[in-house]
Amino acid sequence: EAAPIDIVSMLRRHAAVRPDARCLTNGDETLDFGALERRSNAAANLLSARGIACGDRVALLCPTSPSVFELLFACAKIGAILVPLNWRLSPREIAQIIEDSDPSLIVLDASLSPLLDEVVGRDRLALEDYPALRDAAADTDPAAMIEADIPVLILYTSGTTGLPKGAMLSQRNLSYLGRMAGELWGFTSESVNLVAMPLFHIGGIGYALLALSQGGETVLLPGADPSSVIDTMRRHGVTHGFFVPTVVQRLVDHVTETGAPPPPIGTIFYGAAPIGEELLERARTTFRCGFVHVYGMTETAGTTVTLLPHEHEGERLRSCGRPMPWVELELVDPATGRKVDAGQTGEIRMRSPAIMLGYWHKPEETARAVTPDGWLCSGDAAYADEEGYLFIQDRYKDMIVSGGENIYPSEIDNVLLHHPAVAEVAVIGVPHPKWGETPCAYVILREGGEASAADLIAFTRDRLAHYKCPTSIRFVKELPRNASGKILKRELRELDTAGSR
Ligand code: ATP
Repeated sequence: EAAPIDIVSMLRRHAAVRPDARCLTNGDETLDFGALERRSNAAANLLSARGIACGDRVALLCPTSPSVFELLFACAKIGAILVPLNWRLSPREIAQIIEDSDPSLIVLDASLSPLLDEVVGRDRLALEDYPALRDAAADTDPAAMIEADIPVLILYTSGTTGLPKGAMLSQRNLSYLGRMAGELWGFTSESVNLVAMPLFHIGGIGYALLALSQGGETVLLPGADPSSVIDTMRRHGVTHGFFVPTVVQRLVDHVTETGAPPPPIGTIFYGAAPIGEELLERARTTFRCGFVHVYGMTETAGTTVTLLPHEHEGERLRSCGRPMPWVELELVDPATGRKVDAGQTGEIRMRSPAIMLGYWHKPEETARAVTPDGWLCSGDAAYADEEGYLFIQDRYKDMIVSGGENIYPSEIDNVLLHHPAVAEVAVIGVPHPKWGETPCAYVILREGGEASAADLIAFTRDRLAHYKCPTSIRFVKELPRNASGKILKRELRELDTAGSR
Protein backbone atom coordinates (compact mmCIF):
# COMPACT_ATOMS: atom_id res chain seq x y z
CA GLU A 1 0.00 0.00 0.00
CA ALA A 2 1.41 3.40 -0.99
CA ALA A 3 2.35 5.81 1.80
CA PRO A 4 -0.32 8.51 2.22
CA ILE A 5 0.50 12.02 1.00
CA ASP A 6 -1.54 13.71 3.71
CA ILE A 7 -1.56 13.32 7.48
CA VAL A 8 -5.34 12.92 7.70
CA SER A 9 -5.25 9.63 5.77
CA MET A 10 -2.22 8.60 7.80
CA LEU A 11 -4.27 8.80 11.00
CA ARG A 12 -7.49 7.49 9.46
CA ARG A 13 -5.93 4.31 8.26
CA HIS A 14 -4.61 3.31 11.70
CA ALA A 15 -7.87 4.42 13.34
CA ALA A 16 -9.76 2.13 10.96
CA VAL A 17 -7.47 -0.90 11.19
CA ARG A 18 -6.29 -0.75 14.81
CA PRO A 19 -8.58 1.65 16.68
CA ASP A 20 -7.61 0.25 20.09
CA ALA A 21 -3.84 0.48 19.61
CA ARG A 22 -2.00 2.93 21.86
CA CYS A 23 -1.30 6.16 20.03
CA LEU A 24 -0.42 8.98 22.44
CA THR A 25 0.63 8.69 26.07
CA ASN A 26 0.99 11.70 28.33
CA GLY A 27 1.53 11.01 32.04
CA ASP A 28 -1.22 8.62 33.11
CA GLU A 29 -3.39 9.29 30.08
CA THR A 30 -3.25 7.17 26.92
CA LEU A 31 -5.26 7.86 23.78
CA ASP A 32 -5.73 5.07 21.25
CA PHE A 33 -5.88 5.72 17.51
CA GLY A 34 -9.68 5.55 17.50
CA ALA A 35 -9.85 8.22 20.22
CA LEU A 36 -7.42 10.55 18.46
CA GLU A 37 -9.47 10.22 15.28
CA ARG A 38 -12.77 10.93 17.09
CA ARG A 39 -11.35 13.78 19.16
CA SER A 40 -9.80 15.45 16.13
CA ASN A 41 -13.14 15.15 14.32
CA ALA A 42 -14.88 16.77 17.27
CA ALA A 43 -12.21 19.47 17.52
CA ALA A 44 -12.61 20.15 13.78
CA ASN A 45 -16.35 20.54 14.22
CA LEU A 46 -15.76 22.80 17.23
CA LEU A 47 -13.37 25.00 15.23
CA SER A 48 -15.84 25.21 12.34
CA ALA A 49 -18.58 26.23 14.77
CA ARG A 50 -16.26 29.04 16.00
CA GLY A 51 -16.06 30.27 12.43
CA ILE A 52 -12.67 28.79 11.48
CA ALA A 53 -12.55 28.00 7.77
CA CYS A 54 -10.00 26.85 5.22
CA GLY A 55 -6.83 28.98 5.36
CA ASP A 56 -7.54 30.47 8.81
CA ARG A 57 -4.83 30.30 11.45
CA VAL A 58 -5.35 28.80 14.89
CA ALA A 59 -2.59 29.80 17.30
CA LEU A 60 -1.84 27.46 20.16
CA LEU A 61 -0.07 28.39 23.36
CA CYS A 62 0.12 25.39 25.65
CA PRO A 63 2.60 23.01 27.25
CA THR A 64 3.17 19.59 25.68
CA SER A 65 -0.11 17.65 25.59
CA PRO A 66 -2.20 15.42 23.29
CA SER A 67 -4.41 18.47 22.53
CA VAL A 68 -1.64 19.70 20.24
CA PHE A 69 -2.17 16.65 18.03
CA GLU A 70 -5.94 16.76 18.29
CA LEU A 71 -5.81 20.33 17.02
CA LEU A 72 -3.21 19.61 14.35
CA PHE A 73 -5.39 16.87 12.85
CA ALA A 74 -8.51 19.00 13.38
CA CYS A 75 -6.94 21.82 11.35
CA ALA A 76 -5.83 19.31 8.71
CA LYS A 77 -9.40 18.06 8.37
CA ILE A 78 -10.87 21.51 7.65
CA GLY A 79 -7.93 23.09 5.80
CA ALA A 80 -7.05 25.42 8.70
CA ILE A 81 -3.48 26.16 9.81
CA LEU A 82 -2.08 25.44 13.27
CA VAL A 83 0.49 27.89 14.66
CA PRO A 84 2.09 26.43 17.80
CA LEU A 85 3.71 29.23 19.80
CA ASN A 86 7.00 28.99 21.64
CA TRP A 87 6.18 29.58 25.30
CA ARG A 88 9.78 30.43 26.07
CA LEU A 89 9.48 33.68 24.17
CA SER A 90 8.75 37.02 25.83
CA PRO A 91 5.29 38.65 25.63
CA ARG A 92 6.80 41.09 23.09
CA GLU A 93 8.05 38.30 20.85
CA ILE A 94 4.76 36.41 21.13
CA ALA A 95 2.92 39.60 20.18
CA GLN A 96 5.11 39.91 17.06
CA ILE A 97 4.28 36.37 16.00
CA ILE A 98 0.56 36.86 16.65
CA GLU A 99 0.70 40.03 14.62
CA ASP A 100 2.51 38.24 11.81
CA SER A 101 0.39 35.09 11.70
CA ASP A 102 -2.90 36.93 12.36
CA PRO A 103 -4.81 34.00 13.89
CA SER A 104 -8.62 33.91 14.01
CA LEU A 105 -8.46 32.02 17.30
CA ILE A 106 -5.88 31.60 20.06
CA VAL A 107 -6.16 28.42 22.09
CA LEU A 108 -4.30 28.90 25.33
CA ASP A 109 -3.47 27.27 28.62
CA ALA A 110 -4.30 29.54 31.58
CA SER A 111 -0.81 29.14 33.05
CA LEU A 112 0.63 30.82 29.96
CA SER A 113 -1.88 33.65 29.61
CA PRO A 114 0.56 36.32 30.95
CA LEU A 115 2.50 35.75 27.72
CA LEU A 116 -0.45 37.26 25.87
CA ASP A 117 -0.44 40.46 27.91
CA GLU A 118 0.54 42.51 24.87
CA VAL A 119 -2.03 40.89 22.59
CA VAL A 120 -5.47 42.48 22.37
CA GLY A 121 -8.72 41.84 20.60
CA ARG A 122 -8.35 38.26 19.45
CA ASP A 123 -10.82 35.45 19.95
CA ARG A 124 -9.49 33.14 22.66
CA LEU A 125 -10.38 29.65 23.78
CA ALA A 126 -9.13 28.48 27.19
CA LEU A 127 -7.55 25.06 27.02
CA GLU A 128 -9.27 24.33 30.34
CA ASP A 129 -12.65 24.68 28.61
CA TYR A 130 -11.60 22.88 25.46
CA PRO A 131 -12.17 19.21 26.53
CA ALA A 132 -15.79 19.89 27.52
CA LEU A 133 -16.48 21.91 24.37
CA ARG A 134 -14.82 19.26 22.22
CA ASP A 135 -16.82 16.49 23.87
CA ALA A 136 -20.01 18.42 23.27
CA ALA A 137 -19.26 18.66 19.53
CA ALA A 138 -20.24 15.87 17.12
CA ASP A 139 -17.36 13.47 16.48
CA THR A 140 -18.41 12.70 12.93
CA ASP A 141 -15.75 13.20 10.26
CA PRO A 142 -16.13 16.75 8.89
CA ALA A 143 -15.54 15.07 5.52
CA ALA A 144 -14.02 18.12 3.88
CA MET A 145 -11.85 17.57 0.83
CA ILE A 146 -8.33 16.96 2.03
CA GLU A 147 -5.85 19.22 0.32
CA ALA A 148 -2.29 17.96 0.57
CA ASP A 149 -0.63 21.07 -0.81
CA ILE A 150 -1.98 23.95 1.25
CA PRO A 151 -0.39 24.95 4.56
CA VAL A 152 -1.49 23.00 7.64
CA LEU A 153 1.22 24.11 10.05
CA ILE A 154 3.22 27.31 10.45
CA LEU A 155 6.35 26.87 12.54
CA TYR A 156 8.35 29.93 13.43
CA THR A 157 12.08 29.26 13.04
CA SER A 158 13.88 29.51 16.29
CA GLY A 159 15.51 32.78 15.39
CA THR A 160 19.07 31.66 16.03
CA THR A 161 20.20 34.09 13.37
CA GLY A 162 17.46 36.70 13.07
CA LEU A 163 13.80 37.53 13.54
CA PRO A 164 11.47 34.52 13.52
CA LYS A 165 9.92 33.64 10.16
CA GLY A 166 6.91 31.38 9.80
CA ALA A 167 7.73 28.34 7.67
CA MET A 168 4.51 27.10 6.02
CA LEU A 169 4.36 23.33 5.87
CA SER A 170 1.78 21.35 3.95
CA GLN A 171 0.34 17.92 4.66
CA ARG A 172 2.43 16.55 1.80
CA ASN A 173 5.58 18.05 3.39
CA LEU A 174 4.75 16.36 6.71
CA SER A 175 3.84 13.05 5.06
CA TYR A 176 7.54 12.52 4.28
CA LEU A 177 8.09 12.05 8.01
CA GLY A 178 6.03 8.88 7.58
CA ARG A 179 8.26 7.74 4.74
CA MET A 180 11.48 8.27 6.71
CA ALA A 181 9.98 6.46 9.67
CA GLY A 182 8.91 3.43 7.68
CA GLU A 183 11.42 3.20 4.85
CA LEU A 184 14.65 4.36 6.50
CA TRP A 185 14.45 4.15 10.25
CA GLY A 186 12.47 0.98 10.84
CA PHE A 187 9.55 2.36 12.86
CA THR A 188 6.67 -0.15 13.10
CA SER A 189 3.38 -0.48 14.95
CA GLU A 190 5.47 -1.96 17.80
CA SER A 191 7.59 1.19 18.18
CA VAL A 192 7.37 3.34 21.29
CA ASN A 193 8.70 6.80 20.51
CA LEU A 194 9.71 9.26 23.21
CA VAL A 195 9.10 12.95 22.47
CA ALA A 196 10.81 15.20 24.98
CA MET A 197 11.44 18.20 22.72
CA PRO A 198 8.98 21.11 22.70
CA LEU A 199 6.13 20.68 20.22
CA PHE A 200 6.51 24.17 18.77
CA HIS A 201 9.65 22.98 16.96
CA ILE A 202 9.80 20.54 14.06
CA GLY A 203 12.06 18.34 16.24
CA GLY A 204 9.06 17.94 18.58
CA ILE A 205 5.83 18.02 16.57
CA GLY A 206 7.36 16.57 13.39
CA TYR A 207 9.39 13.97 15.21
CA ALA A 208 6.23 12.84 17.03
CA LEU A 209 4.64 11.93 13.70
CA LEU A 210 7.26 9.21 13.07
CA ALA A 211 5.75 6.48 15.26
CA LEU A 212 2.25 7.80 14.70
CA SER A 213 2.63 7.34 10.94
CA GLN A 214 3.41 3.65 11.44
CA GLY A 215 0.70 2.96 14.02
CA GLY A 216 3.16 2.95 16.94
CA GLU A 217 2.94 4.68 20.32
CA THR A 218 4.20 8.16 21.09
CA VAL A 219 5.08 9.00 24.69
CA LEU A 220 5.06 12.71 25.44
CA LEU A 221 7.19 14.34 28.13
CA PRO A 222 6.90 18.00 29.13
CA GLY A 223 10.68 18.44 29.09
CA ALA A 224 13.98 16.64 28.87
CA ASP A 225 14.85 16.36 32.56
CA PRO A 226 17.33 13.44 32.53
CA SER A 227 15.86 11.41 35.38
CA SER A 228 12.33 11.56 33.99
CA VAL A 229 13.59 10.72 30.48
CA ILE A 230 15.46 7.65 31.74
CA ASP A 231 12.59 6.65 34.00
CA THR A 232 10.06 7.01 31.14
CA MET A 233 12.28 4.96 28.84
CA ARG A 234 12.23 2.12 31.38
CA ARG A 235 8.57 2.33 32.32
CA HIS A 236 7.19 2.54 28.80
CA GLY A 237 9.67 0.29 27.01
CA VAL A 238 10.70 3.19 24.78
CA THR A 239 12.29 2.02 21.51
CA HIS A 240 13.18 5.38 19.90
CA GLY A 241 14.01 8.87 21.15
CA PHE A 242 15.39 12.12 19.73
CA PHE A 243 17.66 14.33 21.79
CA VAL A 244 19.68 17.44 21.02
CA PRO A 245 23.38 17.23 22.00
CA THR A 246 22.97 19.15 25.29
CA VAL A 247 20.31 16.64 26.35
CA VAL A 248 22.42 13.67 25.21
CA GLN A 249 25.13 15.07 27.49
CA ARG A 250 22.78 15.25 30.47
CA LEU A 251 21.45 11.74 29.85
CA VAL A 252 24.94 10.26 29.67
CA ASP A 253 26.00 12.10 32.85
CA HIS A 254 22.86 10.91 34.62
CA VAL A 255 23.33 7.25 33.71
CA THR A 256 27.01 7.45 34.67
CA GLU A 257 26.25 9.12 38.02
CA THR A 258 23.49 6.74 39.05
CA GLY A 259 25.51 3.71 38.02
CA ALA A 260 22.30 1.83 37.08
CA PRO A 261 22.26 -0.07 33.77
CA PRO A 262 20.96 2.11 30.93
CA PRO A 263 17.40 1.50 29.75
CA PRO A 264 17.22 -0.88 26.75
CA ILE A 265 16.33 1.67 24.05
CA GLY A 266 16.76 0.58 20.42
CA THR A 267 17.61 3.83 18.64
CA ILE A 268 18.71 7.28 19.73
CA PHE A 269 18.43 10.11 17.21
CA TYR A 270 20.71 13.10 17.74
CA GLY A 271 21.17 16.34 15.82
CA ALA A 272 19.78 19.87 15.43
CA ALA A 273 23.14 21.22 16.60
CA PRO A 274 26.74 20.01 16.37
CA ILE A 275 27.75 17.18 18.69
CA GLY A 276 31.30 16.74 20.01
CA GLU A 277 33.08 13.52 19.01
CA GLU A 278 33.92 12.73 22.60
CA LEU A 279 30.29 13.06 23.70
CA LEU A 280 29.11 10.84 20.85
CA GLU A 281 31.62 8.18 21.86
CA ARG A 282 30.51 8.34 25.49
CA ALA A 283 26.87 8.15 24.48
CA ARG A 284 27.51 5.10 22.31
CA THR A 285 29.33 3.23 25.05
CA THR A 286 26.76 4.25 27.66
CA PHE A 287 23.60 3.27 25.78
CA ARG A 288 24.97 0.56 23.46
CA CYS A 289 22.09 1.08 21.05
CA GLY A 290 21.73 2.23 17.47
CA PHE A 291 22.57 5.91 16.94
CA VAL A 292 21.13 7.95 14.07
CA HIS A 293 22.43 11.39 13.18
CA VAL A 294 19.88 13.76 11.71
CA TYR A 295 20.38 17.05 9.89
CA GLY A 296 17.48 19.16 8.79
CA MET A 297 15.67 22.43 9.18
CA THR A 298 12.21 23.73 9.96
CA GLU A 299 12.07 24.75 6.29
CA THR A 300 12.59 21.14 5.18
CA ALA A 301 9.92 19.77 7.54
CA GLY A 302 12.63 17.92 9.44
CA THR A 303 15.42 15.59 8.49
CA THR A 304 16.94 15.64 5.02
CA VAL A 305 20.29 13.98 5.72
CA THR A 306 20.85 11.01 8.01
CA LEU A 307 23.67 8.76 9.20
CA LEU A 308 22.31 5.31 10.00
CA PRO A 309 23.55 3.09 12.84
CA HIS A 310 25.69 0.82 10.62
CA GLU A 311 27.38 3.90 9.13
CA HIS A 312 28.75 5.06 12.50
CA GLU A 313 32.38 4.20 11.89
CA GLY A 314 35.79 5.92 11.85
CA GLU A 315 35.84 9.32 10.15
CA ARG A 316 32.11 9.06 9.43
CA LEU A 317 31.32 9.49 13.11
CA ARG A 318 31.70 13.20 12.41
CA SER A 319 29.37 13.05 9.40
CA CYS A 320 25.63 13.66 9.41
CA GLY A 321 25.27 11.10 6.65
CA ARG A 322 23.70 11.13 3.22
CA PRO A 323 20.52 12.68 1.82
CA MET A 324 17.27 10.77 1.95
CA PRO A 325 16.25 9.16 -1.35
CA TRP A 326 13.77 11.92 -2.24
CA VAL A 327 16.19 14.77 -1.37
CA GLU A 328 18.47 16.31 -4.01
CA LEU A 329 21.44 17.98 -2.34
CA GLU A 330 24.20 20.14 -3.79
CA LEU A 331 27.11 22.00 -2.25
CA VAL A 332 27.50 25.34 -3.94
CA ASP A 333 30.10 28.07 -3.59
CA PRO A 334 27.87 31.01 -2.58
CA ALA A 335 30.23 33.47 -4.27
CA THR A 336 30.23 31.85 -7.73
CA GLY A 337 27.08 29.74 -7.60
CA ARG A 338 29.12 26.73 -8.83
CA LYS A 339 29.04 23.25 -7.36
CA VAL A 340 32.17 22.43 -5.38
CA ASP A 341 34.22 19.21 -5.58
CA ALA A 342 34.41 16.50 -2.94
CA GLY A 343 36.35 17.74 0.08
CA GLN A 344 35.60 21.41 -0.62
CA THR A 345 33.30 23.61 1.37
CA GLY A 346 30.06 24.88 -0.09
CA GLU A 347 26.60 25.94 0.99
CA ILE A 348 24.10 23.10 1.39
CA ARG A 349 21.25 23.53 -1.09
CA MET A 350 18.39 21.09 -1.14
CA ARG A 351 15.36 20.31 -3.24
CA SER A 352 12.69 17.88 -2.13
CA PRO A 353 8.91 17.47 -1.98
CA ALA A 354 9.18 18.08 1.79
CA ILE A 355 10.50 21.63 1.45
CA MET A 356 8.16 24.30 2.83
CA LEU A 357 5.68 26.20 0.72
CA GLY A 358 7.45 29.42 1.75
CA TYR A 359 7.52 31.86 4.67
CA TRP A 360 4.11 33.12 5.73
CA HIS A 361 3.47 36.54 4.14
CA LYS A 362 7.17 37.11 3.43
CA PRO A 363 7.64 36.74 -0.33
CA GLU A 364 11.00 38.51 -0.27
CA GLU A 365 12.42 36.32 2.48
CA THR A 366 11.05 33.29 0.65
CA ALA A 367 12.71 34.37 -2.59
CA ARG A 368 16.00 34.78 -0.73
CA ALA A 369 15.74 31.29 0.75
CA VAL A 370 14.30 29.30 -2.17
CA THR A 371 15.46 29.65 -5.79
CA PRO A 372 12.82 29.84 -8.57
CA ASP A 373 13.49 26.20 -9.43
CA GLY A 374 12.92 25.07 -5.86
CA TRP A 375 16.35 24.85 -4.25
CA LEU A 376 16.41 25.80 -0.58
CA CYS A 377 19.58 27.66 0.40
CA SER A 378 20.33 26.46 3.92
CA GLY A 379 23.00 28.97 4.92
CA ASP A 380 24.99 26.01 6.27
CA ALA A 381 28.56 25.36 5.18
CA ALA A 382 29.60 21.75 4.64
CA TYR A 383 31.80 19.46 2.59
CA ALA A 384 31.16 15.94 1.33
CA ASP A 385 33.52 12.98 0.94
CA GLU A 386 33.84 10.94 -2.27
CA GLU A 387 30.86 8.81 -1.32
CA GLY A 388 28.62 11.76 -0.61
CA TYR A 389 28.76 11.69 3.21
CA LEU A 390 28.17 15.20 4.42
CA PHE A 391 30.22 16.99 7.09
CA ILE A 392 28.59 20.14 8.48
CA GLN A 393 31.05 22.88 9.29
CA ASP A 394 29.08 25.92 10.34
CA ARG A 395 26.51 28.44 9.38
CA TYR A 396 27.93 30.89 6.86
CA LYS A 397 26.70 33.67 9.13
CA ASP A 398 28.99 32.37 11.87
CA MET A 399 32.01 31.98 9.62
CA ILE A 400 34.97 34.14 10.64
CA VAL A 401 37.02 35.86 7.96
CA SER A 402 40.46 36.63 9.34
CA GLY A 403 43.10 38.19 7.13
CA GLY A 404 41.18 36.93 4.09
CA GLU A 405 41.07 33.32 5.35
CA ASN A 406 37.78 31.59 6.14
CA ILE A 407 37.61 30.02 9.58
CA TYR A 408 34.81 27.70 10.64
CA PRO A 409 34.32 28.19 14.39
CA SER A 410 33.23 24.58 14.87
CA GLU A 411 36.75 23.43 14.05
CA ILE A 412 38.06 25.45 17.00
CA ASP A 413 35.17 24.25 19.22
CA ASN A 414 36.16 20.67 18.50
CA VAL A 415 39.78 21.23 19.45
CA LEU A 416 38.97 23.06 22.69
CA LEU A 417 36.44 20.39 23.69
CA HIS A 418 39.36 17.95 23.81
CA HIS A 419 41.01 19.98 26.58
CA PRO A 420 40.34 18.18 29.87
CA ALA A 421 39.32 21.36 31.71
CA VAL A 422 36.77 22.47 29.10
CA ALA A 423 33.09 21.58 29.48
CA GLU A 424 31.47 23.76 26.81
CA VAL A 425 32.68 26.20 24.24
CA ALA A 426 31.40 28.59 21.58
CA VAL A 427 33.66 30.49 19.23
CA ILE A 428 32.68 33.74 17.53
CA GLY A 429 34.54 36.32 15.47
CA VAL A 430 35.47 39.60 17.15
CA PRO A 431 36.78 42.73 15.43
CA HIS A 432 40.56 42.96 15.10
CA PRO A 433 42.50 46.03 13.86
CA LYS A 434 44.92 44.05 11.72
CA TRP A 435 43.05 40.90 10.62
CA GLY A 436 39.52 42.25 10.38
CA GLU A 437 38.25 39.54 12.69
CA THR A 438 39.81 36.93 14.92
CA PRO A 439 38.29 34.03 16.84
CA CYS A 440 37.25 34.55 20.44
CA ALA A 441 36.26 31.49 22.49
CA TYR A 442 33.62 31.59 25.19
CA VAL A 443 34.46 28.75 27.54
CA ILE A 444 32.73 27.02 30.42
CA LEU A 445 35.25 25.13 32.54
CA ARG A 446 34.43 21.75 34.04
CA GLU A 447 33.87 21.63 37.77
CA GLY A 448 37.32 21.65 39.32
CA GLY A 449 38.86 22.23 35.87
CA GLU A 450 41.83 24.60 35.81
CA ALA A 451 43.09 26.39 32.73
CA SER A 452 44.08 29.94 31.94
CA ALA A 453 43.35 31.77 28.70
CA ALA A 454 47.03 31.39 27.79
CA ASP A 455 46.86 27.60 28.42
CA LEU A 456 43.87 27.22 26.14
CA ILE A 457 45.33 29.35 23.37
CA ALA A 458 48.58 27.34 23.57
CA PHE A 459 46.52 24.14 23.38
CA THR A 460 44.94 25.29 20.10
CA ARG A 461 48.28 26.43 18.68
CA ASP A 462 49.58 22.87 19.02
CA ARG A 463 46.64 21.55 17.00
CA LEU A 464 45.46 24.19 14.54
CA ALA A 465 46.91 26.50 11.93
CA HIS A 466 47.93 29.65 13.80
CA TYR A 467 45.54 31.95 11.96
CA LYS A 468 42.66 29.80 13.28
CA CYS A 469 43.66 30.02 16.94
CA PRO A 470 41.59 32.18 19.26
CA THR A 471 43.22 35.46 20.22
CA SER A 472 41.03 35.80 23.30
CA ILE A 473 39.20 33.50 25.70
CA ARG A 474 36.25 34.53 27.83
CA PHE A 475 35.32 32.35 30.76
CA VAL A 476 31.59 32.21 31.42
CA LYS A 477 29.22 30.24 33.64
CA GLU A 478 26.57 29.75 30.99
CA LEU A 479 26.10 30.00 27.22
CA PRO A 480 22.89 31.50 25.82
CA ARG A 481 20.83 28.73 24.23
CA ASN A 482 17.40 28.49 22.65
CA ALA A 483 14.74 25.90 23.44
CA SER A 484 16.30 23.32 21.15
CA GLY A 485 19.68 23.68 22.79
CA LYS A 486 21.32 25.77 20.08
CA ILE A 487 23.87 28.34 21.17
CA LEU A 488 22.70 31.84 20.33
CA LYS A 489 25.89 33.29 18.86
CA ARG A 490 23.98 36.46 18.04
CA GLU A 491 23.60 37.04 21.78
CA LEU A 492 27.24 36.22 22.44
CA ARG A 493 28.28 38.85 19.92
CA GLU A 494 26.13 41.38 21.75
CA LEU A 495 27.54 40.42 25.16
CA ASP A 496 29.63 42.85 27.07
CA THR A 497 33.32 42.08 26.94
CA ALA A 498 33.38 41.92 30.74
CA GLY A 499 34.38 38.58 32.18
CA SER A 500 37.55 38.17 30.16
CA ARG A 501 40.70 37.35 31.97
P1 ATP B 1 16.93 30.59 12.30
O1 ATP B 1 16.63 30.05 10.93
O2 ATP B 1 15.96 31.60 12.75
O3 ATP B 1 18.34 31.03 12.43
P2 ATP B 1 17.40 27.94 13.21
O4 ATP B 1 18.29 27.89 12.01
O5 ATP B 1 17.97 27.53 14.50
O6 ATP B 1 16.74 29.37 13.32
P3 ATP B 1 16.06 25.46 12.75
O7 ATP B 1 15.25 25.18 11.56
O8 ATP B 1 15.54 25.02 14.07
O9 ATP B 1 16.17 27.02 12.85
O10 ATP B 1 17.48 24.85 12.63
C1 ATP B 1 18.10 24.44 11.42
C2 ATP B 1 19.59 24.62 11.54
O11 ATP B 1 20.12 23.83 12.62
C3 ATP B 1 20.35 24.13 10.33
O12 ATP B 1 20.34 25.08 9.30
C4 ATP B 1 21.75 23.90 10.92
O13 ATP B 1 22.47 25.10 11.02
C5 ATP B 1 21.45 23.40 12.33
N1 ATP B 1 21.51 21.92 12.36
C6 ATP B 1 20.49 21.06 12.18
N2 ATP B 1 20.90 19.78 12.30
C7 ATP B 1 22.22 19.82 12.56
C8 ATP B 1 23.22 18.81 12.78
N3 ATP B 1 22.93 17.52 12.75
N4 ATP B 1 24.49 19.24 13.02
C9 ATP B 1 24.79 20.54 13.05
N5 ATP B 1 23.89 21.53 12.85
C10 ATP B 1 22.63 21.19 12.60
